[in-house]
Amino acid sequence: MTTNGHFAAVGDKPTADNFGHGIQVIDEDKSFSTHLNEYLRETHVAEAGFDYHLISVFGSQSTGKSTLLNNLFGTEFSVMSESERRQTTKGIWMSKNKKGADSMAKNILVMDVEGTDGRERGEDQDFERKSALFALATSEVLIVNIWEHQVGLYQGANMGLLKTVFEVNLQLFLKDRQSTPRSLLFFVIRDFIGNTPLSNLRNTLVQDLTKIWSSISKPAGLENATIDDYFDFAFAALPHKILQPDKFVTEVDTLGRRFIAGHRSTTDQEFVGGVFLPEYHRRIPADGFSVYAEGVWDQIVNNKDLDLPTQQELLAQFRCDEISREALVAFDETILPLEEQQADGVRLGRAVVLAGLGVTGAASRAACLEQFQAQAGRYHKGVYTRKLAELEGKVDTRLKALYQSQLAGAHKAGVASFTEAVTAAVKTGQKAGGNYEFADIVETEKAKTLESFKTEAQGLAIPEVAWTNFKPQYVLFEKELDEVSAKLRKEEMRRLATRVERWVKSRLGDAVGLEFNKLGSGRAGGGAPEESSTGSSGASSSEKDLWDRIWKVFVGVVEEAQDRFTDRAKSFDASEAEVQVGLWRLRRKSWVALREKIDEEVMEGNILLKLRENFEDKFRYDEAGVPRIWRPSDDIEGIYTRARESTLTLIPLLARFRLAATIAPPDLPVWIGNQPAGAEPEDEDDLTPIGGVDEEEGKSLEEEMTVLSESKRQDLVIRFKKTADGVYVEAKRGALGGITQ
Ligand code: GDP
Ligand code: MG
Repeated sequence: MTTNGHFAAVGDKPTADNFGHGIQVIDEDKSFSTHLNEYLRETHVAEAGFDYHLISVFGSQSTGKSTLLNNLFGTEFSVMSESERRQTTKGIWMSKNKKGADSMAKNILVMDVEGTDGRERGEDQDFERKSALFALATSEVLIVNIWEHQVGLYQGANMGLLKTVFEVNLQLFLKDRQSTPRSLLFFVIRDFIGNTPLSNLRNTLVQDLTKIWSSISKPAGLENATIDDYFDFAFAALPHKILQPDKFVTEVDTLGRRFIAGHRSTTDQEFVGGVFLPEYHRRIPADGFSVYAEGVWDQIVNNKDLDLPTQQELLAQFRCDEISREALVAFDETILPLEEQQADGVRLGRAVVLAGLGVTGAASRAACLEQFQAQAGRYHKGVYTRKLAELEGKVDTRLKALYQSQLAGAHKAGVASFTEAVTAAVKTGQKAGGNYEFADIVETEKAKTLESFKTEAQGLAIPEVAWTNFKPQYVLFEKELDEVSAKLRKEEMRRLATRVERWVKSRLGDAVGLEFNKLGSGRAGGGAPEESSTGSSGASSSEKDLWDRIWKVFVGVVEEAQDRFTDRAKSFDASEAEVQVGLWRLRRKSWVALREKIDEEVMEGNILLKLRENFEDKFRYDEAGVPRIWRPSDDIEGIYTRARESTLTLIPLLARFRLAATIAPPDLPVWIGNQPAGAEPEDEDDLTPIGGVDEEEGKSLEEEMTVLSESKRQDLVIRFKKTADGVYVEAKRGALGGITQ
């Protein structure tokens, strides 16, 4: 077979057909194939991890190397035609083993290194060196193909080649002293006749190799290195293929069985099992082999010092990045739509709580990291660890944002639903007659809301991931619920205050009205003995202590109101400070209500009517409360004057809120008390200033207690006198009329 037609050459786009025959990894122009990885995928080696092997073959031109490989591994490397005898294409070819599925290791990749014959083609020594270096950097086993008659010919072509191999090997391991992977030099002696036993040939070869080794100049630091530090040796002999074809086939078959995993026996250092010892493996994951091999070749071609550890690190970086990107694809597919939903919610100001986010997030995270770990874990430990942390960082940054946004949504929604629920329950309670326990409502709703927040937060937790502990967010949420509760309780307090104030107003309306109505009767107090002398020109004692009675009623009503307020406020867990503020407000508002009621009572028409009634009572009725029938002989004028003067004394009395005992206003500032320490600015918002209490208002207590201004008083006196005069004239006329009648 002379044609390369079925091989994928370096530039060829591989097809299933040309892949079937292997691939040209490096061509005669020293270019590296762009399709090696495709080939490895096509042949399913790429997914094998470390479970693959690499073998290269060396030897002089036309010594039957390709023939050997094709027979051994079922490959189809080109073989020089018997008749044409022209050189086959130069380069490095690779094919996967197609033979011995049961009797050989899996995934054996074979490299056929062409044109390695430096002695005869001096100009190609460069290529020979480079391909040797490449083969050594990648292969576990180097098959050295040699004719039996060449054994012992120390100056032979093969020996020059081996010298090159040893030199480049030393060059390689100068840079890689930690791992120093070993290789197996597997000598296959061809056209073996059998006159000289293989063991003899073997001894001769080992002697020659030792000689070669000692002849090469060793780099500094490796002067004392021995050949056994780097190489193991194995030997096999094959009969002449053309003269003994049947035997050739059987022997090749036997040889093929040695390509299985093996290990070194601990006692005699002999191989047990096959030729693939773990220590030969270069530990390049199969899915990274093409990148690695290309990097190595690039260094070799450009005459750079080949530094395998660095190459492995570069490979790890490249592959880890690639694997990371691949792992993120599925993560993105799941997470991106969720991120968009949240972004939409934020843009529209809506609280978005995505269902099942914790499960989805944790699963996506685990799947992504596991995919990375499974594929990238075979690469350089340091790089892998760093890249794993990077990937974790990327994934977690995304999830963190998502989770925090989720909890912000849950927080917002929770506060809203809590407020709604409490408000609704209060409303229901009010409709049902106001007999509801605010504190209980708050407690129940808070527990409910907290529980659902907790469920949400715990749903996001990933046990081994510290940042998914959302305790701080929970604490913050609870704090906000407490703040909202406080606000709602304050509103509830205001509602309670309004109810109590309304009650105070209504009670004061009745009670104070009653006191003023008593003024309408000049005999207020129901004819008590001391009032018998209508003639006394002064207000009766019951009139004199009008303000005492009003104050007493007022204080009594407010006290009762305060008790009601305190009881109820305590029932919904209001704080002592809040209660104190409420009471303080209540006292102030009650006073203002009283003041308003008094003002209403002393409104011009009202008070004039009362004064007139008071006067008429005194004028028209005698001491026994019997209406007088005026006779001309009566001292109408005297009775009139006394009654009028008596009523007039009420005006200064009414003009000022004064207590009889002290002839001074009640100590309103003390009664109202100082603003409690816990009060907040808004507690004063709707309060009417009170003279003498709110000092900065510029109104004194005296002014606060002034019921009738001086001018009003005078005006009232004049009007009252006119009214009284009218009554007198009427009486006088009545008396005279009585006579004329
Ligand atoms: P390569 O250049 O080393 O790959 O050698 P090839 O496999 O192309 O074979 C070169 C020549 O050697 C071909 O003409 C083969 O027929 C011949 N050949 C192959 N195997 C043997 C063998 O075992 N003994 C001998 N004497 N010739 C062989
Ligand atoms: Mg060949």
